[in-house]
Amino acid sequence: MAIPFQNTYIHLPADFHKLAAPIPVKQPGLIAVNDDLARELGIDPAFLRSEEGLAILSGNTIPEGAEPLAMAYSGHQFGGFSPQLGDGRAILLGEVAGMDLQLKGAGRTPFSRRGDGRSALGPVLREYLVSEAMAALGVPTTRALAALTTGDHVMREEPEPGGIFTRIASSHLRIGTAQFFAARGDQDNLRALVDYTIKRHYPTASDALDLLRAIIEKQAHLIAQWMGFGFIHGVMNTDNMTLSGETIDYGPCAFMDRYHPARKFSYIDQQGRYAYQNQPPIAQWNLTRLAEALLPLISEDQEKAVEMAQEELKKFPAIYEAARLKIFSNKLGLADNDDWEIVQDLLDLMSGQEADFTLVFRHLGGDQDQLLSQFRDRASIKEWLRRWQKKGGIDLALMKKTNPIFIPRNHRVEEVIQAGVKGDFAPFHRLHKILKTPYEEQPEEADFEQSPEPDQIVCATFCGT
Ligand code: AMP
Ligand code: MG
Repeated sequence: MAIPFQNTYIHLPADFHKLAAPIPVKQPGLIAVNDDLARELGIDPAFLRSEEGLAILSGNTIPEGAEPLAMAYSGHQFGGFSPQLGDGRAILLGEVAGMDLQLKGAGRTPFSRRGDGRSALGPVLREYLVSEAMAALGVPTTRALAALTTGDHVMREEPEPGGIFTRIASSHLRIGTAQFFAARGDQDNLRALVDYTIKRHYPTASDALDLLRAIIEKQAHLIAQWMGFGFIHGVMNTDNMTLSGETIDYGPCAFMDRYHPARKFSYIDQQGRYAYQNQPPIAQWNLTRLAEALLPLISEDQEKAVEMAQEELKKFPAIYEAARLKIFSNKLGLADNDDWEIVQDLLDLMSGQEADFTLVFRHLGGDQDQLLSQFRDRASIKEWLRRWQKKGGIDLALMKKTNPIFIPRNHRVEEVIQAGVKGDFAPFHRLHKILKTPYEEQPEEADFEQSPEPDQIVCATFCGT
């Protein structure tokens, strides 16, 4: 087998999926293959780049060992429950080295509803860049194995070139997967899901409550990392939150330039439900939906089950806050700091003065003029700097390891997409290369450190479904 599949999900009971083969496309064109990731999976990158590999990644051929399917799930979308979602534009080919290999945009499935099962090229490029940037930053995330053009057009507001994204994930199990069975009162399948999730992701967990506890812990740490990079997911629906604790589904996501706690980008999120500062409470809200789904497995006595689940959910804020304190303290070079106020005061100064989130932390341990240039009121930041320096023991090496120089800034991602739809992928490859080593100086690419000029600012992002 050129791709060494060893599939497990397909052996779960029939209600977990529907069989769905990819639908061929006109003329697959290779944009990128992630050679390092391919090797990690035991796949020869040269094979993926070959004619045969391209046929597989485009869905034009089903490789030996693949057992293509669409996963079933439900989800709370913007607070409202949709009992029937499922993979409408993604097909799981199978598992390689314990990881899911999925083609996103490979055609209609039994879960497509009114959608076309396809992806436009723009969202493919965005997901590739941003998920790989997250991985390089050290954030748990699904990964990008390949990106292709299809030679076909997809109809959105206007016709757009189509693309296919090959996604690698520890799994595609979501909070919405548990909700799917809970909503149907299907305890047998719920139990099968819990057992499977424990075996695949949390082998030391002993029961459903233990699993819930482990997922709460994972998600609290994940969200704290997002916050530490100024990352806004944009669509934190329960179907977009994994049980593994990896970031998934990079739709209208964005890294903030100018810091403001209420910042949001997603065009469809008019209320700002998924704004930056709402991410921790929304994660807790989503985890509460997971807990509800698991109740029948937590205890036969439902009142007792609620109590036990609540006990775990109550711990989320403290776990999150401890993780956040650690992350932001490291960003300030303070390895053993227990004072959140010093962090909060800096953030307050930044938000009041629209300072750039990434540049402030980057220059804190370095260029004072650059740092001061981020603030209109120099006196206030100078006063804060004195307080910070008085703490002593500032670890500059720690700051360099925790404060990236390069993030996928919206205006750069936008440039990549604009060029990509015209068939020019040079900007994609350039940005991708820069983002591979986000903590390292790259003097020849210094422009990419900068925040957007007023005419480059991206105010809204789109799901691109
Ligand atoms: P998302 O907003 O990408 O998380 O998707 C939410 C739901 O809509 C999932 O069930 C997707 O599979 C489905 N969906 C999104 N876009 C499409 C599409 N173009 N065709 C079919 N289903 C889609
Ligand atoms: Mg989704």
